[in-house]
Amino acid sequence: MATNTTNTTTALTTANVKRLEQKAKAGWKCFFMMRDDYCELNEHYGNLLQRNRAMVQILKANPTADIDITFLKTQFIEMYDMIKKNSECPVCFETITKENIEVPSCGHLICKGCKENVMKNDKKCPCCRKVFYGNV
Ligand SMILES: [Zn+2]
Ligand SMILES: [Zn+2]
Repeated sequence: MATNTTNTTTALTTANVKRLEQKAKAGWKCFFMMRDDYCELNEHYGNLLQRNRAMVQILKANPTADIDITFLKTQFIEMYDMIKKNSECPVCFETITKENIEVPSCGHLICKGCKENVMKNDKKCPCCRKVFYGNV
């Protein structure tokens, strides 16, 4: 019990608090980047619904009308790319899971293996070239 108390006290140094704050900030950056993507996804969803209603109207007026689905295809591809972007490591394209996820200080997600490589080299985020975790 006494050892635990000592450990807790040791863990709460200014440097460690600063490091935790840095990690929390990185998490928020990542959250806002993802939120922007999902807002865009939601916009695509709205566009699709609107186009769907328009197509229903066309078919109601003329059941044999030729429907151009190029727009739908484009919307789906863009949505798919957005989802994929948030689920893959931008370096090795491995799926990011809760076991291998790393959130650098800039908020760009990367997998554990690629982060280890980056730490061995220039310690810079492959997405934005900002330094990873400072001196941690
Ligand atoms: Zn990777
Ligand atoms: Zn970055």
